[in-house]
Amino acid sequence: MTDTKKVCDLCGLTVELDDFSLNTTEGEKEFCCEGCQGIYQMLHENLILDNPPDKTDN
Ligand SMILES: [Zn+2]
Repeated sequence: MTDTKKVCDLCGLTVELDDFSLNTTEGEKEFCCEGCQGIYQMLHENLILDNPPDKTDN
């Protein structure tokens, strides 16, 4: 059997959608939901390669 189901890189749940992924220095990370993607992004900010130009009001 070739079951290649991905699991969330944050919580370990099965990833049902391909919508939530991040390119990092350690490769592509997949997440089960936007929440996990966001949390990973916050925790590993320095590893994220695809930083969308996001202007914050500071
Ligand atoms: Zn998750």
